Amino acid sequence: MRANAGMAFSMEERLQLGIHGLLPPCFISQDVQLQRVVKNYDMKRDDLDRYVFLMGLQDRNEKLFYRVLLSDIERFMPIIYTPTVGLACQQYGLIFRKPRGLFITIHDRGHISTVLQNWPEKDVRAVCVTDGERILGLGDLGCCGMGIPVGKLALYTACGGVPPQQCLPIMLDVGTDNEALLRDPLYIGLRHKRVRGQAYDDLLDEFMTAVSDRYGTDCLIQFEDFANVNAFRLLSKYRNKYCTFNDDIQGTAAVAVAGLLAALLITKSKMCDHTIVFQGAGEAAMGIAELIAMAMEKEGLAKGECLKKIWMVDSKGLIVKMLKTEHKIYHIYIYIYVDVFLHVAGVAAVAGAFTQQIITDMASFNERPIVFALSNPTSKAECTAEQCYTLTEGRGIFASGSPFDPVTLPDGRTFFPGQGNNAYIFPGVGLAVTACAIRHISEEVFLTAAEALAHLVTEKDLAEGRLYPPLSSIRDVSLKLAVKVRIMEYAYEHNVATLRPEPSDKEAYVHSLTYSTDYDEFAADSYRWPEDSMTMQ
Ligand code: NAP
Ligand code: MN
Repeated sequence: MRANAGMAFSMEERLQLGIHGLLPPCFISQDVQLQRVVKNYDMKRDDLDRYVFLMGLQDRNEKLFYRVLLSDIERFMPIIYTPTVGLACQQYGLIFRKPRGLFITIHDRGHISTVLQNWPEKDVRAVCVTDGERILGLGDLGCCGMGIPVGKLALYTACGGVPPQQCLPIMLDVGTDNEALLRDPLYIGLRHKRVRGQAYDDLLDEFMTAVSDRYGTDCLIQFEDFANVNAFRLLSKYRNKYCTFNDDIQGTAAVAVAGLLAALLITKSKMCDHTIVFQGAGEAAMGIAELIAMAMEKEGLAKGECLKKIWMVDSKGLIVKMLKTEHKIYHIYIYIYVDVFLHVAGVAAVAGAFTQQIITDMASFNERPIVFALSNPTSKAECTAEQCYTLTEGRGIFASGSPFDPVTLPDGRTFFPGQGNNAYIFPGVGLAVTACAIRHISEEVFLTAAEALAHLVTEKDLAEGRLYPPLSSIRDVSLKLAVKVRIMEYAYEHNVATLRPEPSDKEAYVHSLTYSTDYDEFAADSYRWPEDSMTMQ
């Protein structure tokens, strides 16, 4: 309930709204409501219960839900987002209480605009869409993947301040190839194999047109957790036509490159001084590699040289040659395992892939090895923070996709693992894009965001091993990314922002748009004229 304030409704409001008597005879402020929620939350036994509890609150009292998230974002983010959201998606049929978001299926082809009409909000600025085929590192979860766009958009609001009524989570259900789900009586989606090929492409085309017809060509459409066969293809097909980006490719790239740029402040070196090996050659790896190459090129290295510094291993082995096809960088030659490599970024969703041997080897030929275990959720991480710090005797520079607790080594030194969380990037990008009506989102926007994010890391953060600003400051980070550090500036300079006139004070403008968790006032504006002017004739 968007407008619900529970017992925080005043007497006047209760009378005027016709809800007097429907609430207990007591007036309770949002501060006290917050305490009640947190106390209840503390009594939950496990993270899935906490997820269900918070989602229930989101349904009941949206302002309070966001107030709770913002009261301690570091604590609640791992519940509504990775890693718990992964668990929630795996159990989505079981924990289902109340639908959230819009479900469009392959059988709605030809009628998507009708389905969109059923969504009650008229002014949607940001859509997050998935087809559920590659949910985190958990594979095909079909319609149960809806938890992902729901969680992502909650972060648009919590971290970016984008009002929730402007955000629309969408599931494109084309079926699932997950046999267990197809057999599960509690499964909530279409009960057949995925439809692929022309019918799938037609659905996507119609979807893109229908969304921009209804909400405008500047409505942001974020693609999330599509399998890589579709992700690259759809991105290149739509990126110059619509206001769209793929968070798994581009958001991940920006956050990983930001972490690398911060790591370079520790190693006091340039990006092009390093060789980087990826475990995995999918969406995340390709996106990060592309942005690393852009950063190296910016440092003055020729494009061909940049690519020589980037290596990738997929399930078949080391890729030694890549060919660019129409839609994605495609690998053709495969080789044996690497013996010399410098820094690794893991994005293959293979838990434990960074073995003791790999990490100790890296530590033997690097003063400060950089180890990014980016696969999500936590169960898929390539190594733990503790393994990295222990095996490198505290020299490792570590970041992960899902959060890890700080690690204290036997010698007493404590390290704070960086969380290379896309939430540092997409809410700020989303805020900038929706605030100044950017039409197309170029790759430079993501490099700009990465550089900006790295600049927000302080000397103190770096000394403690943190490659990102504290998660608790994430709302401020998003605002800075959007305004101060230039996504909006960039957009106007490059003529991709369509909001006219250009706001002279962008920060004040963005502030004026951001969502407040304070309850709205509902009591009608009630006042009187002078008595004699109101005398009955
Ligand atoms: P993807 O497009 O499906 O790519 C997975 C890649 O891993 C493929 O190249 C695959 O190779 C490779 N792979 C699979 N098994 C392997 C093995 N045993 N050894 C080496 N490589 C192997 O998925 P993605 O979008 O890149 O995401 C991968 C992971 O990164 C997920 O866990 C995701 O949650 C995580 N991620 C994290 C962040 C973040 O932390 N900020 C952001 C995005 C994604 P084949 O093609 O040969 O199978
Ligand atoms: Mn994702």
